[in-house]
Amino acid sequence: MTTERIQIRNFINGVFVEPSGGRYLDNIEPATGKPYSQVADSDSRDVDLAVAAAEKAFADWSRKPAAERSRLLLRIVDLIERGLEKFARAESIDTGKPLTLARSLDIPRAVSNFRFFATAILHTESEAHITDNVAFNYTLRQPRGIAGLISPWNLPLYLLSWKIAPAIAVGNTAIAKPSELTPMTAYLLCELCREAGLPNGVLNVVHGTGPNVGAAITAHPKINTISFTGGTVTGKKVAEVCAPLFKKVSLELGGKNPNIVFADADLDAAIAGSVRSSFANQGQVCLCGSRVFVERSAYKDFVDRFIGKASQLKLGDPLDEKTEQGAIMNKAQLEKIKFYVDLAQKEGGKISLGGSSPNPPNERCRNGYFFSPTVIVDLPVACRTNREEIFGPVVTITPFDSEEEVVRYANDVDYGLSSSVWTQNLSRAHRVAEKIHTGTVWVNCWLVRDLRVPFGGMKQSGVGREGGEEALRFFTEPKNVCIAK
Ligand code: NDP
Repeated sequence: MTTERIQIRNFINGVFVEPSGGRYLDNIEPATGKPYSQVADSDSRDVDLAVAAAEKAFADWSRKPAAERSRLLLRIVDLIERGLEKFARAESIDTGKPLTLARSLDIPRAVSNFRFFATAILHTESEAHITDNVAFNYTLRQPRGIAGLISPWNLPLYLLSWKIAPAIAVGNTAIAKPSELTPMTAYLLCELCREAGLPNGVLNVVHGTGPNVGAAITAHPKINTISFTGGTVTGKKVAEVCAPLFKKVSLELGGKNPNIVFADADLDAAIAGSVRSSFANQGQVCLCGSRVFVERSAYKDFVDRFIGKASQLKLGDPLDEKTEQGAIMNKAQLEKIKFYVDLAQKEGGKISLGGSSPNPPNERCRNGYFFSPTVIVDLPVACRTNREEIFGPVVTITPFDSEEEVVRYANDVDYGLSSSVWTQNLSRAHRVAEKIHTGTVWVNCWLVRDLRVPFGGMKQSGVGREGGEEALRFFTEPKNVCIAK
């Protein structure tokens, strides 16, 4: 089956169905700027149908032995692995990311997500508390019911499977909404769920816009658990709707992540790591290090070599095997990037590399959305360019003189998702890691992900943690059973 010209329908109760209103949206390929498929433009009626299916499925699914749920999820793993190339190509076309990145990162990670939680549920433990001679308590962790799972466009299957896998592994049923900009791999996943024999209604996918489908999911009284990944502004809306309904909510939001390079660092490693953390997926990863701080004695050398390396990144057609920088998600995102590059110059910044859209890489991509890797220097630390999330291939580089000063700079934003620290001094690494207000601190690396560790943000980067035990706990309700002795 080819993914081109498909009409992407909702997946409800194990079958693909038309949206209630019969409406579809064009799905644009970022590299060409042209529609290549259509996606259901659903509304609250479709969410109601999905809730009815999920509610019906919950009774059986939540009571299935963990080993059986595990077996079904592992079948999905095998099927994704079998179709890895098809998934990678679909993800690349849908997002504009290089095919090589989708093949090496996005789809393998989706496989790992399913495998991790499919097997994690076979190894869980529960706590017991003995109250002297009075009673014996144990903690029963039960699935909560129907989970609403909402994800963004930058890492579509990677992030959606990071929610679907733990939610259904522990016995919930789920209603997922991918971004309407990137629905294709969620659609392909539904086909595999059918093939794997996942019972009808366990996973339902409703496509459409945030204001229509996302808002209907967050407001639905029968969906008591919401796992959301997206921008901070949207996250606030989700929190506002969920709070009076007392839903359990996890919010993974935006970032403006510092990347700190001390003069004692292995500069070759720091430069290679920083170029990657600045421009991976065209800078459209919530964990990208968009603010680089370099100790003054190494600053000039770092900037020269960083620019040298970044300028060699091969921008091209995402489907070209040699491409390292693909397309930007859509026109709105491209305009946003251009706005911030203009703003940076008004704020006193100097563009040392890039700063504009390049010539199209080929005829096919003539109307695609491309932007060159961009480096900005000489900006004041506290300006808007250094505080607001751009979410594109734009990085600022700023010198610093002391550890205290750079920690202050790093923390001087509303966000607190992740940070990187490059140094050979172990004591300094520990000291700085303790003082930085981010949910993840990488030392001498970036984007090393162990699925067991807690993942999430501080401040306006979110509430709650995903990953490992945190996710298993989020998607279950702890109940204390107290038995008198
Ligand atoms: P958005 O916040 O615009 O959208 C995220 C999801 O929410 C989409 O599916 C969107 O639907 C949906 N949505 C929009 N409005 C509502 C609403 N009122 N109620 C419920 N759902 C709604 O984010 P982007 O898709 O633009 O993604 C980029 C953002 O995601 C960046 O800020 C990035 O930092 C953040 N992000 C955070 C990560 C983390 O782990 N902390 C990881 C990856 C990204 P639709 O798009 O269909 O309108």
